[in-house]
Amino acid sequence: MKEKLKKVYYCDYCKKKMFVKSAMEKHELCCTANINRHCKMCDLMGAENDIKDIIQKTEKTLAGKYTLCMDIEDDKKTFDEIFDTLNRCPACMLTVMRHYKIIVDGWDFREAMQKEFDSVKEEEMAYIF
Ligand SMILES: [Zn+2]
Ligand SMILES: [Zn+2]
Repeated sequence: MKEKLKKVYYCDYCKKKMFVKSAMEKHELCCTANINRHCKMCDLMGAENDIKDIIQKTEKTLAGKYTLCMDIEDDKKTFDEIFDTLNRCPACMLTVMRHYKIIVDGWDFREAMQKEFDSVKEEEMAYIF
């Protein structure tokens, strides 16, 4: 039997843990719970978002208003307003929502990301052919 002691690296922002330090460093830099994160999705979409600035601006509308859940149907206007301000980047949207600890009911983050990936791909294809 082999027994090994391994170091575990915990993300400072979310609950993720990893065994590879460099991978954790990369994760922390882009973690959607880190408001100083670097957004790779924005890179891909050609967008630029100042999350801190947006959080400051949405503080009045959002802080404390939705304690746990925001319904995308009932609050579509508020949701779209923030989403538009974020150049409709799903990863940045998730960062803002995580900051306020709001779960958006009826919004699928993975699906939204996939949609963006697909449209970027489509645009690239249109350019190639
Ligand atoms: Zn994290
Ligand atoms: Zn983004």
